[in-house]
Amino acid sequence: MQYKIPLSSSLIQLDAKFEISSADTNYIDDFEASLGNYLQQEKKIVVLNSGTSAIHLSLILAGVKQDDEVLCQSFTFSASANPIVYCGAKPIFIDSEKETWNMCPVFLEEAIKNRMAAGVKPKAIIVVHLYGMPAKMEAISTIAKKYKITLIEDAAEALGSTYKNQKCGTFGDFGILSFNGNKIITTSGGGALVCKHEEDKQKAIFLATQARDNAPHYQHSQIGYNYRMSNVLAGIRGQMEVLDKHVALRRKNNQFYKALFKDVNGITVFAAPTKDYFSNHWLSCVLIDSAITGFTSQELRLQLEKDNIESRPLWKPMHLQPVFKDCLFFGTDVAESLFTNGLCLPSGSNLTEEDLDRISSTINKFL
Ligand SMILES: *Cc1c(COP(=O)(O)O)cnc(C)c1O
Repeated sequence: MQYKIPLSSSLIQLDAKFEISSADTNYIDDFEASLGNYLQQEKKIVVLNSGTSAIHLSLILAGVKQDDEVLCQSFTFSASANPIVYCGAKPIFIDSEKETWNMCPVFLEEAIKNRMAAGVKPKAIIVVHLYGMPAKMEAISTIAKKYKITLIEDAAEALGSTYKNQKCGTFGDFGILSFNGNKIITTSGGGALVCKHEEDKQKAIFLATQARDNAPHYQHSQIGYNYRMSNVLAGIRGQMEVLDKHVALRRKNNQFYKALFKDVNGITVFAAPTKDYFSNHWLSCVLIDSAITGFTSQELRLQLEKDNIESRPLWKPMHLQPVFKDCLFFGTDVAESLFTNGLCLPSGSNLTEEDLDRISSTINKFL
């Protein structure tokens, strides 16, 4: 059996360096400064132990409390929605549109109007840039501003992506990033909260470090969390230096799949709808129209598995998850049909020519 080609290689990739030189060096400040520099949000970044904790803190900073409602993209990873429940609030799920696969602005506004007519104004909106593809940020920001609802941008998969030349993670009132093992850059585990205001950054650090009041003894007037990134992990800052290279490699994988499926009827490689959208192509995905191809995405997945090549169905929408079955949903079957017909293909930034040859020969044989 040949070795396994993973979906998205984990662990520290390529030439990232550990640079821990002394225990008293403040790597956290350095990492926040280089991220701030990259995102052009100087001094407003807080590095944390995960992207999930960044979403949780952003909801607390948005004032989300028990029984509040939060609007969330349904087509996403559960980590986008779980922190809503940590706050005792209720997720309301919104369907996707077909161009970017992200939150549909039309269903978003419909949901806001519906909830306001029912006497509850949603406290926040969580929009996601799935697989690195920027969401329709202009339309979504306009709606958030119109109804004065806090906008949280889950850019966990989209570091390096841009919409109209603006970096993903910098559109919302809050942006969140992840440095988990399978993401575009990794500190083995970690995340960041991108704030618009210095005041929010200070509050986030306070909450992330056990909410200790200013006193010589341990004094607390609020519930705190242990969410700060460890200094050692922040020291893996060689990751920022490989970011652009990883984006280029993942985009190259996407080109590879475009060429591979160029003449295949019924298979579409997920691509940016216009030049306004620049995706890091964290994962490359295809949609399979089984009425044309004569096989389903699951059949292709099983064939790849036989040759030890990992692929995966797209995210199963949150409104179809047993754990969220009682939540409201606004939309039709866009996210559901993406889940049924889509497949994520191997997309790691360290795929070799040999790996790509294996992938194309397995797929060509199957076709
Ligand atoms: C990975 C991911 C998260 C969570 O990040 P962690 O650092 O793993 O907690 C949140 N949202 C999306 C869309 C993700 O892909």
